Amino acid sequence: MKKIGRKALRVLVTMCLLLSLAVTSASAAAGSLIPRTGSPEQTTTTTKKSTTTTTTQASNGKVIYLTFDDGPGQYTEQLLDVLKKHNVKATFFVTNQFPKYQKLIAREAEEGHAVAVHTYSHKYSQIYKSTDAYWSDFNKMNKIIKEQTGEKTTLFRFPGGSSNTVSKSYSKGIMTKLVKQANNKGYAYFDWNVDSKDADGANTANKVCRNIKDGVKDRKNSIVLCHDVKSWTVEAMDKTITWALKNGYTFKVLTNGGYTVHHSINN
Ligand SMILES: [Zn+2]
Repeated sequence: MKKIGRKALRVLVTMCLLLSLAVTSASAAAGSLIPRTGSPEQTTTTTKKSTTTTTTQASNGKVIYLTFDDGPGQYTEQLLDVLKKHNVKATFFVTNQFPKYQKLIAREAEEGHAVAVHTYSHKYSQIYKSTDAYWSDFNKMNKIIKEQTGEKTTLFRFPGGSSNTVSKSYSKGIMTKLVKQANNKGYAYFDWNVDSKDADGANTANKVCRNIKDGVKDRKNSIVLCHDVKSWTVEAMDKTITWALKNGYTFKVLTNGGYTVHHSINN
């Protein structure tokens, strides 16, 4: 009995050792599956599901207004495909800087996005020369919008935002005047409270995605500044939108009389 007991104990100890070794190597293998740059959300997806799917969570009460300036351009079509895939609507502040993509303005409107004026030329030296110059350029763009969508818009964004000081070198006090005139005309202008910084140093999809995530987290309403003429911005959208939907954010388009952000006027 004594001999068998010792032998059994030895077998048991060996088994325990083997088992702990197996557990250690299994968890190490699982660890190597976790992407180094992954957020906790992505980690959950990788370990619990074999495929990555977009799931819309119950609303967290927070709204994201994605806005894209300066297009349409060479990446706009790709962006529209991504937005369509997720059934997410955005607001496009359009220009005529790349006329050959003008037809995409029609597609933007057809697919439920808001189309707004961001000026025809986007040239500060021309548009901020005088209030007449500004509105004449504005009307030129709105005419193209009407041709493409069937109607003019009352929504717009100033190049550089309403707080820009660049305009000072072309006409002193012009922003104050333009804002007043816009109000009298019944037009609604929009600045932003989240900057993806895609035109200001964030030149990879990861950086753009991180800036947007950091910006929207503590806000009930976020107007996010993006540019659809930047490849990295369009590249960032799929994972940014996937993350937002998974975390309960709702996407909406800007409307006249709806949520807005106005910077302080500096000229
Ligand atoms: Zn712009």
